[in-house]
Amino acid sequence: MSEDCLLYIGGEWVRSDSGRTFASTDPATGERVATLQEGTPDDVDRAVAAAAAVAPRLRRSGVETRAGWCEAVAAAIEAQAGPLARALSAEQGKPLAEAEGEVVTAALGFRAAAGHVRHLDGTITPVSDPDKRVLSRRVARGVYAVVTPWNFPVNIPTEYLAPALATGNAVVWVPAPTTSHVAVLFTRIIASAGLPAGTLNLVTGPGPVVGDAAVAHPDVHGVGFTGSSATGAHIARRAAGKAQLLELGGNGPTIVLDDADLEAAAVAIASGAFFNAGQTCAATEVVLVERGAHDELARLLADRVRDVVLGPGTDGDTTMGPLNNDGVATKMDDHVADAVERGATTLTGGARSGLFYEPTVLSGVPPQARLVREESFGPIVPLVPVDSAEEALDIASGPEFGLVASVWSRSARRAFAVAEELRTGIVNINDSSTWWEIHVPFGGGSGTLSGTGRLGGMHTLLEMTEIKTITFGTSSF
Ligand code: NAD
Repeated sequence: MSEDCLLYIGGEWVRSDSGRTFASTDPATGERVATLQEGTPDDVDRAVAAAAAVAPRLRRSGVETRAGWCEAVAAAIEAQAGPLARALSAEQGKPLAEAEGEVVTAALGFRAAAGHVRHLDGTITPVSDPDKRVLSRRVARGVYAVVTPWNFPVNIPTEYLAPALATGNAVVWVPAPTTSHVAVLFTRIIASAGLPAGTLNLVTGPGPVVGDAAVAHPDVHGVGFTGSSATGAHIARRAAGKAQLLELGGNGPTIVLDDADLEAAAVAIASGAFFNAGQTCAATEVVLVERGAHDELARLLADRVRDVVLGPGTDGDTTMGPLNNDGVATKMDDHVADAVERGATTLTGGARSGLFYEPTVLSGVPPQARLVREESFGPIVPLVPVDSAEEALDIASGPEFGLVASVWSRSARRAFAVAEELRTGIVNINDSSTWWEIHVPFGGGSGTLSGTGRLGGMHTLLEMTEIKTITFGTSSF
């Protein structure tokens, strides 16, 4: 049954000034899941004002108060885990088991932030005057605009909201339109932990309208954004002068050397490519395999594909759900057609029915193919044969992404030689490109299209605070 949802501003559930609404739908059936408020820049103004009003109180609050809020949110998530996971599966499309895992991780994220903030230590800098004391401590930046995508509608917001709450920042959150019902449910859960009004505000609506207004707002001090590289570049300009934590696209190159454990590699590659139907920034998007291992890896991967059960996420047997929206599906069609035109062979899959895209493996994909050079964001494994680790590195560094990578070899020397050269924020050796835990530093290599800054544990707390230095002479009073 479709639910009528409101904005959350200053501790109240309210209608948008626009008087307009939009629908979010179940990608498996096309049925309406919820009716959402189409927010406006005026709604964003009200949300920023509410956040700004509470920011001084948050900044002055004690660490145990903030840690306690985070722990209360974690407990509230756990208490509502079942309904939240079911709503997540229905609106985003992912299998229920993956949705349940995402919700468990979110509770962990709030607990971890509570733990980390108690150790957000400052420094005392020695100076030439022995009487002088130079105290530096980390303080909240103030008001954050947080704009998030639809692929992990609970975990990605958690990566920002938990550290923001722990450090005493107030937030205006703009979620992706296609997963805004989950955002409303998640906001309800967070608000039930008894935060001061205005600490978290939710404005649903089109990103180019409400997201843009939030990141550019003069009373916003910091921006947390996860999404595509193109939107990230736009936001970086609009939010010039503010603190920016940008988590953008990736191309997940996985390099398989000919001495690798191919069975283990095939399992990890399939999981990295098909988890969340490939709609993961860390997904295994390209496999660069030394020629001697290409055919065996292709055979093993085809075996893994047979295990995939494609269906609605809410069905108990499903291991891979539909794509979330038409934009991703069309991109997949274009990328596969381009690779086949350039001479690649479709070993399995390559077709779709509505948003249900078959798990797909292509062999002999040339490095110039769009599948190799761009982010596909779907359940596809393009196998690119290479003559050497050097050629693999050369191809992997061609696309301008730098988020995650994976290397497979039984030789620590060879694996590390490749891992050290890759310009990505993370390289997972002998594991999937998607291996991750919520406190592990995560983000793009500098100067790439994958963003700036690091999410994860203490790293986000550092990003969301600034250093405030107060100096005094001990004999000056
Ligand atoms: P997107 O950039 O289209 O949208 C992301 C968010 O930005 C949405 O909420 C959208 O409404 C909003 N938005 C759109 N235009 C805007 C504008 N002009 N101003 C302000 N906000 C705007 O991305 P998407 O398709 O929702 O998400 C997929 C992308 O996210 C992929 O590229 C993926 O790699 C990336 N991603 C990155 C990470 C990471 O941690 N690096 C994690 C997950 C997803």
